Amino acid sequence: MSETLLQIRNATKVYKQGKNDVVALQDFNLTIAKEPASIVTIAGESGSGKSTIANLVLGFIELTSGEILFEGRDVSQGTANEMREYRRNVQAVFQDPFGVYNPYYRVQHVFDLVVKNFKMANNKNQSREMIEEALNVVGLYGEDVLRKYPHQLSGGQRQRIMMARAYMVKPKLIVADEPVSMVDASLRASILDVMMRLKEESNISFLYITHDLSTAYQIGDKIMLLYQGTVSETGVATDVIDTPKHPYVQLLVDSVPKPDPNIRWEGEIILPPEEEMRTTAKAGCRFYPRCPQRMDHCKNNLPPLYTVGDRGHEASCYLYDEEVMAKA
Ligand code: ADP
Ligand code: MG
Repeated sequence: MSETLLQIRNATKVYKQGKNDVVALQDFNLTIAKEPASIVTIAGESGSGKSTIANLVLGFIELTSGEILFEGRDVSQGTANEMREYRRNVQAVFQDPFGVYNPYYRVQHVFDLVVKNFKMANNKNQSREMIEEALNVVGLYGEDVLRKYPHQLSGGQRQRIMMARAYMVKPKLIVADEPVSMVDASLRASILDVMMRLKEESNISFLYITHDLSTAYQIGDKIMLLYQGTVSETGVATDVIDTPKHPYVQLLVDSVPKPDPNIRWEGEIILPPEEEMRTTAKAGCRFYPRCPQRMDHCKNNLPPLYTVGDRGHEASCYLYDEEVMAKA
């Protein structure tokens, strides 16, 4: 068995909200191997629990139950030194990078802070070289951007600067929460290219979060589709999108034209907003109220993941349970 970089086991997150607790994530499991680096896409509608996963991995919020292991060690049990290492190894890139920049500081300052925080350089020259190299990796040049203020940059530049900043720390994992949803299609493609290059050339893995299936298709590694805090389907992104098995994913994919594998897919598949309020009380399949193929059995039982194809293709649906289907 290959070693794991990140492992999330039986993760459940409940947000306390008076009498209506929100189950944002329920019994979620995920493994990213150490080698080779990969991009795992978490896709789902708004409110399905994607950012909850990102925030849990980044340590911004705590699990209600379950555990998160990094290189085999429970991240909530680490020593101060281990926590520091973890914060260096796991970097974040967010949807709106404008929000994380102080408008009164030049871009140079963003990078100087990283060099200082992680004690990355011994002198000014070394620091300058590191910053220039990181910018070049994402297709930018220091002279063009370092002296600018955030408002003088385009959305695509800001996003690439965030990627350069994360790369400079030489992390093992980058958590990218909807990094391309605020930029237009051509820039989106170039940022995805940067992610794929960092994976190939620098062995950096990604937890890539999106509500847009087309970018997951382009990347092609593993995808996990969330529906109301549970995984509806998982597998290699192209397998799942070309031959979806879960009724929810079938509905999603059927509503858009099939991509031609020879053509760069520049379009977007935006998932519709979630319609139902979720409650702790609901016992059965989360998709039951909307499912065109629902059975009585689904009402009170949450389906596990069933193998539905090759390369780890799994769907959480009783249509793939022989015993249940024999009785139906
Ligand atoms: P996504 O990123 O997929 O849009 P989130 O993980 O942000 O979804 O949210 C999942 C669910 O948890 C939603 O129903 C959301 O309203 C709820 N939620 C998120 N953060 C909080 C919070 N801090 N307090 C209460 N509920 C929250
Ligand atoms: Mg989100």
